[in-house]
Amino acid sequence: MKLLLLGCILTASFSLQAIAATETPIRLVIHGGAGTITKNTITPEQEKAYQDKLNEALKAGYNVLNKGGSSLDAVQASINVMEDSPLFNAGKGAVFTHDGKNEMDASIMDGSNLKAGAVAGVTNIKNPINASYAVMTKSPHVMMVSKGAEQFAAEQGIEIVDPSYFRTDFHWEQLQKAKEKEKVVLDHDGKTAALFVDPMLYDYKYGTVGAVALDKQGNLAAGTSTGGMTNKRYGRVGDSPIIGAGNYADNNTVAVSATGSGEMFIRTATAHNIAAQVKYNKATLSDASRNALDDVKAIGGSGGVIVLDKSGNYAMEFNSEGMYRGTIGDDGIPHVSIYKE
Ligand code: ASP
Repeated sequence: MKLLLLGCILTASFSLQAIAATETPIRLVIHGGAGTITKNTITPEQEKAYQDKLNEALKAGYNVLNKGGSSLDAVQASINVMEDSPLFNAGKGAVFTHDGKNEMDASIMDGSNLKAGAVAGVTNIKNPINASYAVMTKSPHVMMVSKGAEQFAAEQGIEIVDPSYFRTDFHWEQLQKAKEKEKVVLDHDGKTAALFVDPMLYDYKYGTVGAVALDKQGNLAAGTSTGGMTNKRYGRVGDSPIIGAGNYADNNTVAVSATGSGEMFIRTATAHNIAAQVKYNKATLSDASRNALDDVKAIGGSGGVIVLDKSGNYAMEFNSEGMYRGTIGDDGIPHVSIYKE
């Protein structure tokens, strides 16, 4: 009997050790956009509001990871907090298109199997990141756009809201200012088509949100959600829902989420650029990120990236003046930064 008991205790402690040995450190890294963010461009009250919301987003993702939940669930939990806040250009705080609408893009990627899902140009999905997860898990496709994506999301039980939910006075004013500046640029340049006006001329703040996470099972995930760029038109879609540009995750390399001038991030395939450097050149996460941002800068773009690998190493790099960002690990203590250190 005693021997049997001893056997049971030994087996139990062996299994516990086996579980402990297979658990990896948890890590979550988030961003809430990059751009001309300096002590002079935001008030102390705004600074506090951003810090509080980033902390809340980090804790939401941490709670999932700490309980043994998946990196995919953590990414969504964290992004949902930022999507539901008017502070960020995603979900509730999405910027306006030229036509006065809010059209959102989002994507998510599972590093364990390279599955991915994305939606673009959606106008009534409260949390576009959840719709992108549904595309990944409930359909054979990677990307759905506009009305089709909205119909699919509704069929999957994703929360649908009236498009007026996304209206914020601040972003409405921002659109009016952008249109005025556009007019000045057009008059000055004598151009006839607004199509040729570079959005960079009037909007240097990117409020896209993103998260990359590593769970206890050692799986990486990345998610990105955005309202795109103020005054965008003609169904413009940026890098955020483009796998390999604004978002990427592969357990063998890294998980990446980007924010910045989307066109340049698409043209230089930023997120995959970083993963490829880590894979083929064994580059450090910081070096790979800086190289990729240099490529973006070389063609006139700016912004930032968050990057995480399966050992829990991470980087938060940007070539703009600031980036709302933060990270949290096993100790559950959130670290948030806004400006250049
Ligand atoms: N990258 C986003 C886009 O071009 C903008 C942002 O990061 O805020 O749509």
